[in-house]
Amino acid sequence: MMRSNSINAAITVPILFSLLICNTMAFVPHHIAPKWGNVNLYESTDNINPSVDDFAEVNLAQVLGLRRVKKMLRKYKRESNSMVTTEVAVTAVPASPSAAESINTADSPLRVIIAGAPASGKGTQCEIIKKNFDVVHLSTGDMLRAAVAAETDVGKLAKEYMDAGKLVPDDVIIGVVKDRLAEEDCIKKGWLLDGFPRTSAQADALAESGISADCFLFLNVPDNKLVERVVGRRTDPETGKIYHMTFSPPEDEEILARLEQRSDDTEEKVKVRLEQFHTNVEAVKGSYTDIAVEIEGDSKPENVAESIKKAIQQKIPGAASK
Ligand code: ADP
Repeated sequence: MMRSNSINAAITVPILFSLLICNTMAFVPHHIAPKWGNVNLYESTDNINPSVDDFAEVNLAQVLGLRRVKKMLRKYKRESNSMVTTEVAVTAVPASPSAAESINTADSPLRVIIAGAPASGKGTQCEIIKKNFDVVHLSTGDMLRAAVAAETDVGKLAKEYMDAGKLVPDDVIIGVVKDRLAEEDCIKKGWLLDGFPRTSAQADALAESGISADCFLFLNVPDNKLVERVVGRRTDPETGKIYHMTFSPPEDEEILARLEQRSDDTEEKVKVRLEQFHTNVEAVKGSYTDIAVEIEGDSKPENVAESIKKAIQQKIPGAASK
């Protein structure tokens, strides 16, 4: 009895698996059907659907589900170790593409999330990534500071939290980020999200909107270094350049005289910010285990930049850098 059950299972499982694959691939047009191992999947669909080319205009994401299409593309990229053709990207993108729905291929714009504790060096590295990969840099901290300065509704709401070193409520920041990611420059050029998501609710909100990233970079710096970095950090209001009073002070007296310190860059407030960071970081990381890369951030900025560049190119083999 035991034996016949296991024989049944041995026969049934492969049959069910083949049926699943055939059903899935029946919707994939010839010209994009990937080779999986030694099996050419599009050949195996010919008998099932002779007019499979009619699917050239089909919105694959809707038919198969965005998650499944992306999984197929990722697997194909991994196995073929080559760039996916532009045709795949064009065919697979939903009829009216939005930031939320665009599908990642080597030819589609880069989408990167960078995370790390306060003063872990995200700002400096983002400038370099922006130059290297020509993406739109979205820093939620900068966006909120601009909103506070402009006294918008969001700014008025955010101010008290920011002044206390606390996180702005999720529903406020989620709306701001989603709106920004839907703008044309982000859709066309891709994006580098800095400071978001910072809680599991924010990560869930992105996922629920269908917004996914290609790479999640995490800058790792020990806490004692962070406090030292924060307290000495100053910004030049004219150029936006960041200095450190001990490690990289400006040589020019005029610049030195106009440097400003962020109101939350005090020892007292950085402790609150670090506490919030540690409360949330594991949950956020947990949402991106498949695309996460940990970067050693306690090193010279140029070394960190090099590690980041390599990590992005390894995760997204077609990512073009300047
Ligand atoms: P840091 O990473 O050094 O704390 P940021 O410039 O990224 O600095 O953020 C400054 C402040 O803006 C945070 O302390 C917080 O109040 C607010 N903020 C930025 N991003 C978020 C976010 N994703 N969720 C909630 N609050 C945020």
